[in-house]
Amino acid sequence: MKRVYMDNGATTRTHPEVLQAMEPYFLETYGNPSSVHNFGREALKGVEEAREQVQKLINAHDPQEIIFTSGGTESDNLAIIGFAMANRKKGKHIITSAVEHHGVLHTCEYLEKELGFSVTYLPVDKFGLVNVEEFQKTIGEDTILATIMMGNNEIGTIQPIKELAEVAREQGVVFHTDAVQAVGNMPVDVQDLGVDMLALSAHKFHGPKGVGALYVRKGVKLHPHMHGGAQEKKRRGSTHNTTGIIGLGKAAELARDNLSEKVEKVTKLRDKLIKGIEENIEEIVFNGHPEQRLPGNVNFCFRYIEGESLLLSLDLEGIAASSGSACTSGSLDPSHVLLATGLSHEVAHGSLRLTLSYFNEEEEVDYVIEKLPGIIDKLRQMSPLYQSKS
Ligand SMILES: *Cc1c(COP(=O)(O)O)cnc(C)c1O
Repeated sequence: MKRVYMDNGATTRTHPEVLQAMEPYFLETYGNPSSVHNFGREALKGVEEAREQVQKLINAHDPQEIIFTSGGTESDNLAIIGFAMANRKKGKHIITSAVEHHGVLHTCEYLEKELGFSVTYLPVDKFGLVNVEEFQKTIGEDTILATIMMGNNEIGTIQPIKELAEVAREQGVVFHTDAVQAVGNMPVDVQDLGVDMLALSAHKFHGPKGVGALYVRKGVKLHPHMHGGAQEKKRRGSTHNTTGIIGLGKAAELARDNLSEKVEKVTKLRDKLIKGIEENIEEIVFNGHPEQRLPGNVNFCFRYIEGESLLLSLDLEGIAASSGSACTSGSLDPSHVLLATGLSHEVAHGSLRLTLSYFNEEEEVDYVIEKLPGIIDKLRQMSPLYQSKS
């Protein structure tokens, strides 16, 4: 059977060259990077090279501004909890948005419930955008940190990070962004954006799973949340995940190769898919912003459809997609992101996210456009709501 992978927002295929770069660190250069002998020193060399590759990808000023972590979730936790705990004497107010990934949202809720912080969850408009003026008005004497994501993992909307970070800087508020969906998939420059901290994850741009990084601008103080050895300049204890870090570095290097051509290819596929769905299926809602959008993200709601059954029907045709975020599927709660954009529970339940990478081809887009209308039609014929309507 034909198999089409369009769930790159959940995770991506590891690039073969990434795997190749990792292999010797399993079989030959397997020393602990903290050891003094040759095995260790060689491994450390690899780790420091990877740090520079990540530094270059996001244009950090110094490789020491990169802390290796176990992924996007840990980077968000370290940024938010680490900063909040190191700076709690200066203030206890944090600003975030209603459409963040759970790695940010649940971390903020934890600080609120357990550690006495107060958190403002900024609303979004129908495109999923936060308002810069509203953000400015929310900043008070007690505000120490703002954490607003760059590209939304569900609906693809790209927030005005540069403007938001500028407002934060003027008010002396430190700014963190969860850029896990953006990094490696579109240009991201921490100096141009003016952010203080930024989270990224290797498996969202053809690197291995379970490894990521947190960019922390020099001068920003964090408390470590992993207490242990002196790794990562005492900012994150635990033996380096050498193979993972090498893979992250290689993925970062590969991401920079012809980035604009890859963005162009993926954007073209995305727009063809959007057009194909809009032209062939009725009673749909386009989610996210039409232009300020991640190159590979397509998200629609289909009225009178239940997202889970749509995913199963697509899977039977070999098409891998998702409904809401991977973390919420399995539960029956509709996506908090779609609800925040103003959709009703019923409509939000019928969501479909198709996420592309540069490994996708045009004929795969054509295949989905060919199969999807029939599937939607069949599911609607079985839907009592649709029956009573027609
Ligand atoms: C995937 C994702 C995360 C979590 O990253 P992991 O490496 O899987 O922990 C965080 N934020 C966003 C926006 C994501 O898409």
